[in-house]
Amino acid sequence: MNDVKLAVLGGEGTGKSALTVRFLTKRFIGEYASNFESIYSKHLYLEGKKLNLEIYDPCSQPQKAKFSLTSELHWADGFVIVYDISDRSSFAFAKALIYRIREPQTSHCKRAVGSAVLLVGNKQDLCHVREVGWEEGQKLALDNQCQFCELSAAEQSLEVHMMFTRIIKDILTNFKLKEKRRPSGSKSMAKLINNVFGKRRKSV
Ligand code: GDP
Ligand code: MG
Repeated sequence: MNDVKLAVLGGEGTGKSALTVRFLTKRFIGEYASNFESIYSKHLYLEGKKLNLEIYDPCSQPQKAKFSLTSELHWADGFVIVYDISDRSSFAFAKALIYRIREPQTSHCKRAVGSAVLLVGNKQDLCHVREVGWEEGQKLALDNQCQFCELSAAEQSLEVHMMFTRIIKDILTNFKLKEKRRPSGSKSMAKLINNVFGKRRKSV
């Protein structure tokens, strides 16, 4: 069984808990406890595989804004970065988070550089008071090898489900790629022998 660890990050009040709860229960409650962090666990089947999904929903403490993110970067296989389309400052925060995940220094974290990241513009139902254009979100995502979508945790259950499914599939694809890139001991030894002797033979 594959373990998939997903961190839902973003500014305070952007709807991280609403999205997580919507995905897990198909419900939108309206108000969510924000003074403690949660790791939810869910078993699900995807592409014929049984997965043990863990979702990290952080507490909304402003001091967490001074993100070191170090433990999250080590823990997570993928990230959902949430901003509120009616709040420009939350978009700036999402941008900073993405830069932090993608910055080269992060490469020592085994998962971070190629991590699956999905940028989500939440609260699409508030588009009459929109402060961040769809194109801006799309561009930020494209420039940083992220997926992108806009949706509403309040009004769209199916879209939220599809969003989480999309990022989980990306994580599974990354798992497969990493497996391919890691040659087995005997294969890499054969490659080494071939490199050394194969080349010599050619030059004789
Ligand atoms: P968090 O701090 O990122 O976990 O944000 P919450 O999930 O606690 O949501 C903050 C507030 O935004 C709550 O009052 C939610 O009811 C509201 N909210 C969340 N998602 C939506 C949405 O899609 N549309 C609207 N209009 N409000 C939302
Ligand atoms: Mg919350």
